[in-house]
Amino acid sequence: ILRLDGLRKSFGSNEVLRGIDLTVQQGERIAILGASGSGKSTLLRCINFMEVPSAGTVTVAGTPVGEEARGGRCYRPAELARLRTRIGMIFQQFNLFPHMTALQNVAEGPLSVLGVGRAEAEARARQHLAKVGLAEKAEAYPARLSGGQQQRVAIARALAMEPEMLLFDEPTSALDPELVGEVLETILGLSREGRTMLLVTHELGFAFHFATRVIFLHEGMIHEEGTPEQVLKHPRQDRTRAFIGRHS
Ligand code: ATP
Ligand code: MG
Repeated sequence: ILRLDGLRKSFGSNEVLRGIDLTVQQGERIAILGASGSGKSTLLRCINFMEVPSAGTVTVAGTPVGEEARGGRCYRPAELARLRTRIGMIFQQFNLFPHMTALQNVAEGPLSVLGVGRAEAEARARQHLAKVGLAEKAEAYPARLSGGQQQRVAIARALAMEPEMLLFDEPTSALDPELVGEVLETILGLSREGRTMLLVTHELGFAFHFATRVIFLHEGMIHEEGTPEQVLKHPRQDRTRAFIGRHS
């Protein structure tokens, strides 16, 4: 469903991604680990072209997203718009619209981007809020919700676009510790539905239960990858071992 070939990204002279090759099959759940600055967020952002890669290709369901053009990069805008609707992204900061209720936040994408009618969009939004355990908070504004509840609304909002793939960038790292569990539980619930997910996290215990595959990034390259058992319990590389030691 997703293939990255030779993905590179530089900011000026800072080469942040240095050739990432990755194939993700439908239904895989990939936990991405790595030290701060190793390029984890940049990798996720390149997948949906929030950052335009410096080189390499992103292929979603067989369609290449970027294409080389006369020494520079370009992408076809129509493809990009479609791609964005197919890949849901959940950030550390929830980025909800503060002037909209939970329901309106979740219904907004289908209404304005997918062209779904209001009644239908709101009915589906209620279902998605119920799925993240927030049916009774539909009319609440973000300021009246806890961080964990806001993040669950953000997950419902991503689901409302019916994406083929979900990308999570440290979804619990902005939360008070007592709110982390409810969000991780919600994400585990999605994994039981067989969704394709890529998740950047420092929660190694969670990664172990969540992932079908674990990737350890170091200086913009995949330094080690394998099953959770292999990478988290029997790392082969010293750097992976040191990272795991620091985070467990
Ligand atoms: P963290 O665990 O702290 O979130 P990360 O692995 O997600 O780290 P990235 O955010 O991908 O790391 O950043 C990798 C490098 O790229 C860093 O050196 C960062 O300063 C640089 N970088 C990221 N985004 C930009 C940008 N928009 N402009 C310039 N440099 C950037
Ligand atoms: Mg990051």
